[in-house]
Amino acid sequence: MITLLPQHEHYDVVIIGAGMVGTTLACALVHQTQHPGRILLVEATQVHSGKAAQPGFDARSTVLSASSIDYLRTLGLWQAMEAAAAPIHHIQVSDQGHFGGVHMAGSDANVSALGHVVENAAIGQALNQALLNSSAIELCCPVQVTSVKPLPQAMQLSLQTGDSACRITAALVVVAEGGRSGLIQQLGIHVEARSYRQSAVIANVAVSQPHQGIAHERFTSKGPLALLPLIPHAQTERMALVWTHPEDDIAGIMALSDQDFIARLQTDCGHRAGQIVHIGKRAVFPLTLQVAEEQLRPHLALLGNVAHTLHPVAGQGFNLALRDAMALAANVRESLQQQLNPGSFNRLQQWWDVVQKDQLRTITFSDVMTRLFSNNSMAMALLRKFGMVGIELLPPLKQQLARQAMGYQSPAVRL
Ligand SMILES: Cc1cc2nc3c(=O)[nH]c(=O)nc-3n(C[C@H](O)[C@H](O)[C@H](O)COP(=O)(O)OP(=O)(O)OC[C@H]3O[C@@H](n4cnc5c(N)ncnc54)[C@H](O)[C@@H]3O)c2cc1C
Repeated sequence: MITLLPQHEHYDVVIIGAGMVGTTLACALVHQTQHPGRILLVEATQVHSGKAAQPGFDARSTVLSASSIDYLRTLGLWQAMEAAAAPIHHIQVSDQGHFGGVHMAGSDANVSALGHVVENAAIGQALNQALLNSSAIELCCPVQVTSVKPLPQAMQLSLQTGDSACRITAALVVVAEGGRSGLIQQLGIHVEARSYRQSAVIANVAVSQPHQGIAHERFTSKGPLALLPLIPHAQTERMALVWTHPEDDIAGIMALSDQDFIARLQTDCGHRAGQIVHIGKRAVFPLTLQVAEEQLRPHLALLGNVAHTLHPVAGQGFNLALRDAMALAANVRESLQQQLNPGSFNRLQQWWDVVQKDQLRTITFSDVMTRLFSNNSMAMALLRKFGMVGIELLPPLKQQLARQAMGYQSPAVRL
C-alpha cells in the first residue's frame, strides 16, 4: 500500500530506503506470516511499476550469487527477474601480460551456475512490483527521512514530503539509505573509509560472439576489469563491463570517442570474449571501502551500503547485504512472534553475532582481491601468478573460493 504520509504514529519496524537492500528486507519481514507486525518503508523517490526511479536501479548490472538467488526464490522475487538473468557457468580469471590463469566452473562446486547477472533496472522493476502488490508493507514515497533521534524505548523519525512533515516512532529503525543522506552522521556513527583511488567505468557492450555463460575477470596494470554475461537484446550478444581505472585517468577515459574507447578496451581485455562491436552509455562510480563503526544500537540497525560499501571487483556488496538482511528479518520475525521488542539491544546483538563473522570474511576477501590485483609491482605480479597456479593445482582451495563467491561460506538463514 502506497501512502504519502504514514497511517500510524508508531511502527514495529521502519526501514529507511527502498533500494535493493531495504526492499528485500521489507519483503522478508512480511513473507508468509500471519502477524508481520506494523512495517513501514520510507523512500525518497517515487516508486511505481514502470522504470524504477530509485538511484540504485541505474545502468549497472549485479552478479547475484547462488545463495542470493536461493533467498530471492524463497521470497518469490526471483521468479520476476529470472527471465532477465544470464547464468555464469564459468569464471575465467587472467592477468594481462602473463600466461596462465584460473578457470572456475559450476561443476567445481557441484552447481550448474556460479551466479547470475541481472541488470539493476530489471531487479528494480521486480522489487517495485512486489512492493506494490504487498498489502502488508506500508510504503511512503516520495518521502525523505530528515532525522532519527533516540528515545528511551524507541526511535523518533522526522519525515518530509514537499511542504508536509510529520513525526513517528518505531521500535526498530533500519537505516538502508545507501549512505546518501547523512542520517548516521547525525547520530554520531563514524564511518571508516579508505579510498581505493580508483573509479569503475561501467557500460553494456555488444560482442561479436556468444559469451557461453563465461564471466571474464582480468587484471591489468591499471586495475581489474570484468566482462559479465548478459541476456541478449534484439538478437545482439551483450556483456556488462566494469572497468577500473586510477581516479586521475577517469576524465581522459570518459572523454574518448566510442571508437577509441573500444580500441583501448580491446587491448586491455584481449580477445577471449570476442570482438567488442558497440559500447552503450558509460557511467562512473568512485570506489571506496567504507565500514560503519557501529551497525547496531538500541532500536537501530544499519544495512547495505550505509553499513559497508565494498569494491565491486568480487561482486560481493549486495550479496553480503542480502545475507545480513535475511538474518535480521529472521531475528525480527522471531521477536515479534514472541512478543519481544524487535529493537531491544539484546535481540539485535543476537543478529550481529550471526552476521559479524561473514562480514569480516567477505570484506577482507574483497579488499585483498582488490589490492592484490590492483598493484603492478613485480612482487605482487609474482604473488598473483603463484596464487593462480596454486588455486589451479589445489581443487579444495578452488572449491573454497567458489563457495565464498557463491555466498555459501555462511549457514543459510531460515525465515
Ligand atoms: C559498479 C558497481 C558494481 C557493483 N556490482 C555488484 C555486484 O555485481 N554484486 C553485488 O553483490 N554488489 C555489487 N555492487 C554493490 C551494490 O550495488 C550495492 O551493495 C547496493 O546497491 C547497495 O544497495 P542499498 O540498498 O544499500 O543502497 P541504495 O541502492 O543506495 O538505496 C538506498 C535508497 O535509499 C533512499 N534514500 C536515501 N536517503 C533517504 C532518506 N533520507 N529518506 C528516504 N529514503 C532515502 C534512496 O533514494 C535509495 O533508493 C556494485 C557496486 C558498484 C558501484
